[in-house]
Amino acid sequence: MPRLELTRSVTVELDGIAGIDELEAAALGFARSAPGMVVAEAVEAMVEDLVGEVCGPFGLPIADDEQIEAPWVCPGCGAKQGFRRRGRQVRRRKLTSQVGVIEMAGKMVSCRRCDKRFAPIGQLIGLAPRECRTEGLAAAAAALAVEVAYAKASRLLAEVGGVSLSARSIRRDLLKGASVRLGPPEELEELPVLLLDGTGERAGEKKNGVELHLAVGIVARKQAGKRRVCQVELLGATLGEGWGVLFDLIGHLRPGLVVVDGEEELSTLCAKYFPTTPRQRCLWHLARAMVRLARYNDGVGSKIIDQAAADLQAIFDGAWMERDLSNALECLDLLADNLELDSAKAAATHLRNARDEVFTFLSNPQAGTLLAGHKGRPDVGTGVLERVMREMNRRSDVGVRWSVEGIRRLLMTKLEHKYRRGRWAHSEPPSATRAVRIKLTDPALHRAA
Ligand SMILES: [Zn+2]
Repeated sequence: MPRLELTRSVTVELDGIAGIDELEAAALGFARSAPGMVVAEAVEAMVEDLVGEVCGPFGLPIADDEQIEAPWVCPGCGAKQGFRRRGRQVRRRKLTSQVGVIEMAGKMVSCRRCDKRFAPIGQLIGLAPRECRTEGLAAAAAALAVEVAYAKASRLLAEVGGVSLSARSIRRDLLKGASVRLGPPEELEELPVLLLDGTGERAGEKKNGVELHLAVGIVARKQAGKRRVCQVELLGATLGEGWGVLFDLIGHLRPGLVVVDGEEELSTLCAKYFPTTPRQRCLWHLARAMVRLARYNDGVGSKIIDQAAADLQAIFDGAWMERDLSNALECLDLLADNLELDSAKAAATHLRNARDEVFTFLSNPQAGTLLAGHKGRPDVGTGVLERVMREMNRRSDVGVRWSVEGIRRLLMTKLEHKYRRGRWAHSEPPSATRAVRIKLTDPALHRAA
C-alpha cells in the first residue's frame, strides 16, 4: 500500500489576554478529543485506500480475477479475492483507548463467492469483532489496578487520563488477561541464589485463607551508590496450590544455593528437587520462629526469650566473625539445651531440626557469595522475598475477603507487572514503532511569539 499522509490544521483562538488556567483547560480539552479524531480519520482513510486498491474506484469495479489479493479475508468463506464495494458502515464503531474515544466507520465490501457483506476495518487494524477497548488501555488500567482498588483505578483514569472506564470493566479485563500461575523466564537455567517463601492471603472459605507461594532468584548483586542492590528475577508463583506445583515449575533450574524459611515440607521438597544444592535456612525466620514457639507453645517468660534471642544473634555474629563451623554448631546445640532446661521444648526442637541448614554459609562458603549484604555479612535471609510479600499484601489487605480466583488473578497480574511478564513483557509499546508518525506540520507553531 502506498504511503498515506493526512494533514489537519490546528486553530488556536484567544479572546484577549488568556491566563495559564484557561490555556491549560482549553489545551486539555483539545488533547482529550483530538488524538481520537486523528486516529479515526487515519483509519478511515487507510481503509478507503485499501478498498479502492482491491475493488477499484467507485463506479469502476475491477473484475474478480483481475483483483489483487486483499489484505483481508472474507469471514464467510475465507476468499481473498473477488470483492465489491458496498457503501459504508452505518453504525460507527466506538473504541475506548489511551487517547480517548475513537469513533470510526469503515467501508463495507461484499464477497462475490458467498455474498457475505462485511466491513474489513476490524481485521485491518487488528480488532476482534466485539472489542471495544484497546489492549494498550487494558494494560494501563491493569497496571493501575494492581496498585489500588478497582474503583479508585477507575477514578484515577478518569481524572488523570480523561478516559472513562468502569471499575467493573477494569476488573473484568484484569482477570481475563491474568495467568493462573507463573514460571521462570525461558532462557534462565543457572542462578546463584534461589529464595522460597509463602504468605497467607485472606481468601476463600477456609479460615486461614490460602497460601501464596513464591520463588525468586537473586541473579546478580551490584553497587548502587552506598547500597548493594540485588537483581531479582521472579521464578515461580502459585496461589492456593501445594508447594509441589511450584517445584514442578522450577525443578529444572540449577541454583547455587537455596534459601528456605523453615517450613518442613519446603526443605523436604528442596532435598528432592535440588539434591546437590546446599540449603541455607533464613536466619531471620529462624530467630522469629524460636521466639514465637517459646512464647506461645512453651509459654516461657520474656526474660528467657530475650536472653535466647540475644544468644542466637551472638551465635550468628560469632559464626560470621570466626568462621568456625564446629564451634558454631556447638554453640547452637548449647542454646537448644539451655532452652530445654528452661522448659522451652518446642523452641529447642525447632533449633535442633534446623541445625543442618543454619550454617551453610560456613560449610559452603562459595554457594552464598552473592548473599554478602550489609557490611559484607551474609544476608542469609529471605528479606528480598519478604518485601515482595509485603507489597502483595498491601494490595490484597483491603478489608474484604477475596474469592480464591479473584485474588489469584490479581496477584499474578501484579507480579507480571512488577517483573515485566505477560502483557508487559515487551517494554516498547507497539505504538512506538516507526510505521506511524504524528507531528505538528507547521514549524511556526514552535516559535516563540
Ligand atoms: Zn465469501
